[in-house]
Amino acid sequence: MAQYGFYFDSSRCTGCKTCEMACKDYKNLDSSIAFRKVYDYEGGSFTDTDGTLTHNVFSYHVSQACNHCDSPACLAVCPAGAVFKDDDSGLVYIDAKVCSGQKVCIDACPYGVPLYDSTVAKGVKCDGCRDRNAQGLKPICVDACPLRALDFGEIEELRSKYGDNASIAPLPDPSKTQPNLTVKMAAAAKPSEDTTGFIANPLEVS
Ligand code: SF4
Ligand code: SF4
Repeated sequence: MAQYGFYFDSSRCTGCKTCEMACKDYKNLDSSIAFRKVYDYEGGSFTDTDGTLTHNVFSYHVSQACNHCDSPACLAVCPAGAVFKDDDSGLVYIDAKVCSGQKVCIDACPYGVPLYDSTVAKGVKCDGCRDRNAQGLKPICVDACPLRALDFGEIEELRSKYGDNASIAPLPDPSKTQPNLTVKMAAAAKPSEDTTGFIANPLEVS
């Protein structure tokens, strides 16, 4: 089985959210639902030393969708058996015909990926654009990014091309679910366990 995943380059990302909007358009999502989210992560302070200001402030962005994990917490807890990991691509998806809308996956995912769509009373989330993948195309978010900060493909190829790191704040410790994600760190970026920064756009990513 191939295992597909995402690459994200935080040194390129400007936080423009074109990826998020392209996904919302392609998937025809309600205004309250985004399968891809872009975190603004900031921190640091100024210090007055003898009238001279020094600082250690930082700011960067993290664009995140489902990571199609090797140990998907969403799949493990679903009481209806509605979450599947595709045999051919390793992409994790919710079968709407089976989902009973119990929201258990929403609480289980450490990345906050599944959402509840009240218009259909179902859990919903990124499926890695399985339809496009079957046609040999990359997900719409990847093709839309004007900075080429996203890539998608077989995860071992991505890791060999870009390196193997999924630890970046504010995303959680990757050991929890083994995400199929690899990230290039911006110069200012912090690892997952960082406690010096904060999410500066909480309403946009909740
Ligand atoms: S990121 Fe969350 S929703 Fe996606 S496969 Fe992993 S646990 Fe499931
Ligand atoms: S479209 Fe690209 S640059 Fe813009 S927020 Fe998304 S990943 Fe970042």
